[in-house]
Amino acid sequence: MKLTKGKINELLTQPGCEHNHKKEGEGKNKSCTQQAQPGSAQGGCAFDGASIALVPITDAAHLVHGSIACSGNTWGSRGSLSSGPNTYKMGFTTDLSENDVIFGGEKKLYQAIGQLITRYHPAAVFVYSTCVTALIGDDLDAVCKAASNKFETPIVPVHAPGFVGSKNLGNRLGGEALLDYVVGTREPEYTTPYDINLIGEYNIAGEMWGVIPLLEKAGFRVLSKITGDARYNEVCYAHRAKLNVMICSKALINMATAMKERYDIPFIEESFYGVADMNRCLRNIAAFFGDAALQERVENLIEEQTLKLDIALAPYRQRLEGKRMVLYTGGVKSWSIVSAAQDLGIEVVATSTKKSTEEDKARIKQLLGQDGIMLEKGSPEELLRVIEKTKADLLVAGGRNQYTALKARIPFLDVNQERHHPYAGYVGMVEMARELDEAVHSPIWRQVRQAAPWEIWQQEHESLLHLEAE
Ligand code: SF4
Repeated sequence: MKLTKGKINELLTQPGCEHNHKKEGEGKNKSCTQQAQPGSAQGGCAFDGASIALVPITDAAHLVHGSIACSGNTWGSRGSLSSGPNTYKMGFTTDLSENDVIFGGEKKLYQAIGQLITRYHPAAVFVYSTCVTALIGDDLDAVCKAASNKFETPIVPVHAPGFVGSKNLGNRLGGEALLDYVVGTREPEYTTPYDINLIGEYNIAGEMWGVIPLLEKAGFRVLSKITGDARYNEVCYAHRAKLNVMICSKALINMATAMKERYDIPFIEESFYGVADMNRCLRNIAAFFGDAALQERVENLIEEQTLKLDIALAPYRQRLEGKRMVLYTGGVKSWSIVSAAQDLGIEVVATSTKKSTEEDKARIKQLLGQDGIMLEKGSPEELLRVIEKTKADLLVAGGRNQYTALKARIPFLDVNQERHHPYAGYVGMVEMARELDEAVHSPIWRQVRQAAPWEIWQQEHESLLHLEAE
C-alpha cells in the first residue's frame, strides 16, 4: 500500500463512519481530521494505533522497524489475551542506530526478519514502519517481499509511521494492511450459513471469552476474530463470513466498508456492554439471518441468561443503588457503560461526549435525561469541578484519570484498554458490578476522607489564632 495523501483522506472520511455521514457543513469530518495539539497528551500515534489493531493476532511476530523507543512505548500496554500462542507478546525491534539512519536500515530489517523466523517460527510477521524509517525512505514493501520469498512465511508491511496522524488513523492503516495482504488469501476448512466475523474486538482482559460461548450457543459461528485472540490463518479466510459485526465502529470501519464492497459482506455495529446491549446484539444478528428457529433460540438464551443474571446481580444492586457516577471514556462506551451502570441502579450524573458521534450523543441524552451533564472536555480541572458539583460517589474512566479521582477522594474504576477485568457480556456485567462494589465500599475511602492531623489542629486552634491576631 502506498501511503499517499489521498489514501489518508480516504481513511479519514469513511462513508460508514457516523462522524462523516451524520454531519453536514462546517463540522463535517472535524473529529476525524483533528490534529495533534502541542502540549497536550494525544493518546498514541498512528504506529501505536496500527499495533493496537494488529498485535492481538497471537501466533504472528510483530517487528517494529525503528528506534527501540517506538517499541518500548507501545509494547505490552494493552491487555489483549491469548488462549494459545504467545508469540505476539514478544517485543521485536530492529533497534536502529545512528549509522542505520545514515546508511539505511533495509539490510538490518531483512536480517531481523530472518533471525526471528528461524528462532521463533511465527505464522506470519507484521513489520511496522515508524517515523524514522519512513523518513529515511526504507523500502519496507521490497524487503518484506524478498524475505517472504526467501523464508516462505507471510510478511506483511504495515505503513503507519507515527507522524501521519492519530491512533485512530493508525487503527485503520492496520486494517488496510490486513485488507491488502491477509484477508482473502486462504480458504476455511468448511463454512456454515451462520458464519460471522467480529471486527474491532481485541479481547482486552479476555472479554471475548465471555461473549463467544453465547454466540455459539445461540447458533452463530465466529469464523474470524479481527483481531482479539486471533490466529493468522483465520484472518486470511475472513472473506467467507456472511456478516461482519463491528464492535467499535471507528477503529476498523474501513475494513467493514471494504469487505462489503469486495466480498459483499454486510456489517452491523454492536456493543457487548450491559444487559440491554448484549440482548440487542444477539437479536440483531439473529434478525439479520432471518431464521425463525435461530430467533427463538436467541430469545430462549436471553431469557435464561437474564434470569441467572438477576440472581447474581441482586446483592450488588442493593449495595450500589442510588450511587452517583461520573463517566469519562470514549466512543460507544460513553453510552453503553451508562446503560450497564443504570442496570445496576447507579445514577450516571455526567458522561463524556468528546469522541462520540452524533448518534452516540443522542443515545446519551436519552439515557441521562434532562439533568445529565455531557462533558465535551475532560481536563482534570473540569472533572474535579463536575465531581464537586454533582456530589459524585465515583469516577469511571481511563487509567490516566485515576489521580483526578484520588484528588477528589472518590473511588475510581478503569474501563479503558488498560483494564484488568472483562466487562463484556452477561458474565462481564457481574464482574463489573463486583468491581464497582469493591471500589465504592472499600474501607480506604473513610480514612482518605478524614481530615489530615494538621487540618484538625488548625480547626481546633483557629479561634485561638484568630484571637491572637486581634
Ligand atoms: S511518533 Fe514516531 S517516533 Fe514516536 S512512537 Fe510513534 S512512530 Fe515512534
